[in-house]
Amino acid sequence: MRLGPERRFIMHTGSAVPGTILEEGTMETLYMIKCAVCNAHCCRHVAIHIDTPTTKAEHDTIRWYLLHENVYISIDHDNNWILEFKTPCREITSDFKCGDYRNRPAICRDYPSSEEYCEGETTDVAYTHLFKSVEDFEEYLEEKKRV
Ligand code: SF4
Ligand code: SF4
Repeated sequence: MRLGPERRFIMHTGSAVPGTILEEGTMETLYMIKCAVCNAHCCRHVAIHIDTPTTKAEHDTIRWYLLHENVYISIDHDNNWILEFKTPCREITSDFKCGDYRNRPAICRDYPSSEEYCEGETTDVAYTHLFKSVEDFEEYLEEKKRV
């Protein structure tokens, strides 16, 4: 199974507002303004891009993921399968800033790219399918059989 942090989908962590003013005209400056009115939405989950399950054993692994609380699976618009853990970053401060902004991981620094909207900026859903339970997933498999 190929595993990797997912950077394009809504699960990607992002840039909570920094404590200091940055240079004008940069993405960071732009996001200082946007992040200031957000509750660190993008810092509240971890997402990993997983291989598309095709075998019975892989389907069973998906079931195992979904048996856990606060674990979701989704399929994005490019047909990527995403494993998501709904769990907030420990660095979110009580006023929704990043507690270690200058030392934040690269995945936070790079989000969103200049071509992307961050998840707090759009109401578009980033997936075509969302499974929050084993039942959701089994329903999807049943539907696929019928098509
Ligand atoms: S979702 Fe967007 S606006 Fe909200 S903290 Fe993340 S980057 Fe900032
Ligand atoms: S390190 Fe900071 S920017 Fe990155 S997810 Fe945590 S709170 Fe957000």
